[in-house]
Amino acid sequence: MCGIIAISNHPQSAELAKLGLFALQHRGQESAGIVTAADGELHSRVGMGLVSEVFPSRDLAGLPGRMAIGHVRYATTGASHLRNAQPLVFKNIHGPVAIAHNGNLTNALEIKNRLERRGAIFQSSTDSEVIIHLLARANGPLEDAAIDALRQVAGAYSLLFLTPSSIIAARDPYGFRPLLLGQLDKSWVVASETSALHLIKARVVREIEPGEMLIIEGERIKSLKPFKKPASPARCVFEQVYFARPDSTIFGRNVQASRRDLGRALARELSDLRADIVVPVPDSGISAALGFSDVSGIPFELGLVRSHYVSRTFIKPTQELRELAAELKLAPVPETLRGKSVILIDDSIVRGTTSKKIAKSLRRAGAREIHMAVSSPPIVSPCYYGIDTPRAGELVANEKSVEEVRRFLGVDSLHYLSLEGMLRACAGEGGDTRGYCTACFTKLYPTPISDYQTPEPRKKG
Ligand code: SF4
Repeated sequence: MCGIIAISNHPQSAELAKLGLFALQHRGQESAGIVTAADGELHSRVGMGLVSEVFPSRDLAGLPGRMAIGHVRYATTGASHLRNAQPLVFKNIHGPVAIAHNGNLTNALEIKNRLERRGAIFQSSTDSEVIIHLLARANGPLEDAAIDALRQVAGAYSLLFLTPSSIIAARDPYGFRPLLLGQLDKSWVVASETSALHLIKARVVREIEPGEMLIIEGERIKSLKPFKKPASPARCVFEQVYFARPDSTIFGRNVQASRRDLGRALARELSDLRADIVVPVPDSGISAALGFSDVSGIPFELGLVRSHYVSRTFIKPTQELRELAAELKLAPVPETLRGKSVILIDDSIVRGTTSKKIAKSLRRAGAREIHMAVSSPPIVSPCYYGIDTPRAGELVANEKSVEEVRRFLGVDSLHYLSLEGMLRACAGEGGDTRGYCTACFTKLYPTPISDYQTPEPRKKG
C-alpha cells in the first residue's frame, strides 16, 4: 500500500507535503519522496525509509516551488529499492512529469511486455512506470494523454501527476483506494486519507469520485469524468477493516466508527460466547474490541502492549524480517491475563503466524482459555489491487477449515465475522453495502486480473 499527497499554489508546498506524509506513514514505510515544481523544472528528493529518515531536518532546500506531490511506499509490485521509490520523475514529449501512485494495476505486465517488444526501456520495476510509458506515447495536451493512458490500464489507481504547470489527480473507475480533496486558503490539497488533511489544517472538501480526474492549475480546478463507469464501484473494504488510520474518514465513514461497529456486529453474532475479559490485538483490533465489549458487556482489558518502535509485521517484505518483528512487537500483561478466559479480538488473520505467536504468549502469561474472534471473514485469496496480502498458499485460511486454522493457532475456539456483518458495519446505519471489493474474502474479483491468471500471482520486477 502507499500514501499520496499533493499541494497546489502554496509557498510552502514541500513542507506541507512532508507533514502530510507523516500522517500517511502507516500506508508505507519502505520509501518516501517529494517532488516540487518551480521555474519550468521538477525538483525531486526520494529515499529509502521513513519520512523522518528521508527528510531528517527542517531543511527542504532543493525542493522549491508552489506545487508538490509526495509519496510513501511499500512494495506490492517491484522490489524494495531506491529505483522504485516514488514519485517517479520522467522527461517525455510532454516535458517533465512526476507520478505518485497508490494501488496496483492488474494488466501492467501485459502492457510492459508489449511495449518492450517495441523497444521501450523501463527504469524501474513498478507497475506505475507503465502509465508513464503510455503517457509518453499519447498525443495532445497532457490532460488528454493522461486520459488516453489511464483508459488502457486495469486495476487500482489513486494517482497524482505533477508537471511544471499543473497537478492532475485521478481515481480509477472502481474507486478501490481512497482519495480526498481538501482546501487550505487558496491552495488545493489531495490526499489518500483525511488524516493528512487534518494535520495540515486543510478543510475536507469531498472524496474524489471513482473515475474522476481533477486538473489543478494554481487556484483553478477542473473536474472530468472521462472513464467508462462500471456497474458498481469496488471500494476496498480492507481499508476500513485494517489499513486506514482510525481518525480518517474514507468512503464516507470514519474508520474508527466502522471498526467499532465491526466489533459490535461480531459480538451480536457471537452472543453465546462468554469469557472474563475482551483483549484486543493492538492497534487495529482496539476499536473492534471496544465495540465487542459494548455489546457483550464483557470488560475490555489491554492484555497486550504494542511496541510502537517496530513497524507493522504484515507489511515487512520478507518472512525473516516479519518473524523477527513479530516477536519484538507485542508483549502480554501477565497481571491482566493470569487465570482469565480471554476473547482475543483481531481485525484479520493473514498468514496466521503472528496470531499463533500471540496465542502462545498469552498462555505463557497465564491465560486460562483463549477464544479468538476476528472482525472480518477468513482471507482466502490474494489481493491484486495494492494490499500486500501474500500468495494464496501462504494464507492460512486458503485451504484450511476454521477448525484446522483453530488447531494451527492453538486457541480454544475461533470465530470470524460474516461477510454480511462486515459489509453492514463498514457501510454504517442505512448505508449501501454494495459497492465494496471483497475479493480477498470471496475470490470475486471486480476487474480482469490478466497479469495474475496463473494459479499464483507472479512477482513483477
Ligand atoms: S482484494 Fe481485499 S484487500 Fe484487495 S482491494 Fe479487494 S477487499 Fe481490498
